[in-house]
Amino acid sequence: MLVSCLKSVLSEEDVRMYIRAGEIAKRVREEAVRYAKPGMKLLDLAEFIENRIRELGGEPAFPANLSINSIAAHYTPVLDDDSVILEDSVLKIDIGVHVDGYIADTAATVSFSPVYEPLIEASRNALERVIEVLRPGIKASEIGRVIEETIKSYGFKPIRNLSGHSIDRYMIHSGYSIPNYGDRWVRWSLSEGVYAIEPFATNGVGLVREDIVATIFSIKSIKQRLSIREKKVVDYIWRSRRSLPFCERRLKNLVGSVEGIRSILRILINKGVLHVYPVLIEKGNGIVSQFEHTIVIYGRDVIVTTK
Ligand code: MN
Ligand code: MN
Repeated sequence: MLVSCLKSVLSEEDVRMYIRAGEIAKRVREEAVRYAKPGMKLLDLAEFIENRIRELGGEPAFPANLSINSIAAHYTPVLDDDSVILEDSVLKIDIGVHVDGYIADTAATVSFSPVYEPLIEASRNALERVIEVLRPGIKASEIGRVIEETIKSYGFKPIRNLSGHSIDRYMIHSGYSIPNYGDRWVRWSLSEGVYAIEPFATNGVGLVREDIVATIFSIKSIKQRLSIREKKVVDYIWRSRRSLPFCERRLKNLVGSVEGIRSILRILINKGVLHVYPVLIEKGNGIVSQFEHTIVIYGRDVIVTTK
């Protein structure tokens, strides 16, 4: 059990920087929601999002996650991606921004068909209700209970093996998980710090599985013996990303061909240099919706940086 911490872990400057990252993330999320249209390639939407983040003075904290229908998370367009947004796609737009390592993580779901509006409303309302009850010291399990109750009141299920998380500088998941259901085994409370809250609702079984496909990677170790070609790629990623997630699009101008990029990534995975984030798919092939905000708990205040 975690003993709550009395000393201040965030400085005023830290809080200002988290708010700055949050403002960019909020703005780009809203722009992306308006920009997404049926017939648009996912690749174009991802590039729009990542370019806008940079234009506004941020850097993507992770590649834009654009996950359609039963794909719950961790899909970013590959280099030769030809997937297109359809009229009845349920599209999760999950955006990460960092400014000097200060991270904001936010998501919204869009669909152009009214059929999935209740499913989308379930996760949107779950997040809103959590924001209403948030206070310093709130139990993580209470957040999960509010999420579960809200989503179930719409006749859907929360995804139990996806969760919110604590955030630290240059760390998107810094160790603590915020459940999306009333998990009585979770005993910690939210003290001063930064957290992402992200309810997922589904009409499936309420669990995700890992696909064999992965489109997102990060460096986990740089001690391995590498060829000159491999070292060039690792050095480039380490300089620009450190251990933050990246995707094959990031290597477009560094390595000649798509095949070349994929073969180097495969080698780096096999050598244990890269951590792999598999695409996450709903186990019952249910449709998935998600909303997410980043919050800062600072003294007696709760600041929703991405709202
Ligand atoms: Mn996210
Ligand atoms: Mn998150």
